[in-house]
Amino acid sequence: IAAHEDYHAILEVSAVALDRARAIDTQLKAGKKLGRLAGIPYIAKDNFLTAHTHTTASSNILKPFKAPYQSTVIERLEAEGAIMVAKANLDAFAHGSSTENSDFGPTKNPADPTRVPGGSSGGSATAVALGLTCFALGTDTGGSIRQPAAFTGVVGLKPTYGLVSRYGVIAMGSSVDVIGPLANRVNDAALVLDVTSGKDIHDATTIERDPQAYAGGKPQTLKGKKIGLIKEYMGEGTEAAVKASVEDAAQRLAKAGAKVEEVSLPSVDLALACYYVLIPAELSSNLARHDGIRYGHSSKQAQSLAQTYLLSRDEGFGDEAKRRIMIGTYVLSSGYYDAYYKKAQKVRTLLIREFALAFKKYDFLLSPTAPTTAFKLGEKNQDPLSMYMSDVDTVAVNMVGAAGISIPAPVKGLPIGIQLIAPQHGDRALLGAAKALEELLA
Ligand code: GLN
Repeated sequence: IAAHEDYHAILEVSAVALDRARAIDTQLKAGKKLGRLAGIPYIAKDNFLTAHTHTTASSNILKPFKAPYQSTVIERLEAEGAIMVAKANLDAFAHGSSTENSDFGPTKNPADPTRVPGGSSGGSATAVALGLTCFALGTDTGGSIRQPAAFTGVVGLKPTYGLVSRYGVIAMGSSVDVIGPLANRVNDAALVLDVTSGKDIHDATTIERDPQAYAGGKPQTLKGKKIGLIKEYMGEGTEAAVKASVEDAAQRLAKAGAKVEEVSLPSVDLALACYYVLIPAELSSNLARHDGIRYGHSSKQAQSLAQTYLLSRDEGFGDEAKRRIMIGTYVLSSGYYDAYYKKAQKVRTLLIREFALAFKKYDFLLSPTAPTTAFKLGEKNQDPLSMYMSDVDTVAVNMVGAAGISIPAPVKGLPIGIQLIAPQHGDRALLGAAKALEELLA
C-alpha cells in the first residue's frame, strides 16, 4: 500500500490489521478451527462504518467522524477471519463515476495514471487492480461497483437488491443501494457473497440468501442458455472497441452453446433520466442528517442554531452533493412532485415490467458495462451531464433491483467490462454463468 500511494486509492490504513493477523497465526499454530477467510486481507470503501479507522465517505463533512459501531458486512467478514487492512477512496457520498468528486483528491487508474479509475468505488477497484488486496468492498447505487471494475479490469458484482445487509453503510439511494465485492476472479466475489449475504435483523430490506453456496462448484454449462444482447446499449455513444469486445463475448458464448440474440428494451433509454430524479430525491433526504450537531463537521463560525445547520452544511458538503441535494429537494417540492418524482416512479415501473418480460424469454442479458473506456482525469468533471452518461449501461439494473456483474474482456489496451445481468434472486445462476464466461474470455 505504501509503495502505491501515488494512485491515491487508500485513505487510511488500519492500525489493528497486523495484530489481527498475528492473532490468527496464533490460532493456526494452536490447531484451532479457523474461519473461511482466515487471514485474507481486504479493503473497504470508506462509506462502510468500521471500528478502528475513520469513516469519511470522502466528504469533508465527515472528516473527523469515527463510527460507534461496525457495518454488518464488516462484522460477518471479520467473524470468518478476514482482515480489513485499509479504507478506500470514493466520490464523496458515492456521488460520481470517476472518484474526482472525492473531497480528498482523485484516484488514478492503474492501467493509465492520467485516467480515472471510474467511480464511485474507484479506490476499491484500483486497490484490487494493483494487487493491494484480494478483494475490496464497494457499493452500487447506479453502477458504482461495475463501472470502476470495467475501467480497471477487475470483476465487480452487484447482487440482487436486499441480498446483502446495508446496516452501517452510509446510505445514498435507499431504494436501490447494494453492497458487493470487487475481486480478481468471479469465484472470489462469490465467496465474499457467501460470507456477507442473507437476512439481517438490523436491515428490514434484507432477503433470504440461496441455500446453496455461491462459490465453488463447476462453472455452469452455457449450453442451451438464452442470452439477450441489449440493443439499446450498443448504440450511439458506445465506443467501437467496447462494441467489438461485447460482440466478441457474444460469439464466444454462442460457440459454447448459448443462444445469443439481440433484444430491445425500449424504456432503458429513460433509465438515466429516471435515476437522476429519484436518486437525488432519496439522497437529499438521507443527507439531511448531517446537521453539524450530532457528528461530523460543525462550523466554528456559527452564532445560532440555524447558522450551525447552514454553515456546517455549506462548509462540509462539496459541489456535487450540493447539486444533488438541490435537485432532490426540487423534484420533491409540492409544485413539482407530480411532474418529476411521480413521473419518474412510473418510468421505474415501466422498466421493471420490461425487464420482467425480457427475463421470461432470456436467462441472462448481456451488454457493455460502460459505453467508453476510462476517460482522462479532468475530462468530464466540469460537465455533470457527460459524467452522468457514463452510467447509461448500469443504472437500469439498479432501478429494477436485478443482479449484475462486470467481467474484464481480453483486451490489450484500456480495460473493457462485459456486463451480464440476471433477474432478482438469480445471483447463483449469474455467478455460475459468469464463471463460465470468465473462462471463455481468458
Ligand atoms: N455514478 C452514479 C452516480 O453518480 C452511480 C453512483 C453509485 O452507484 N453510487 O450517481
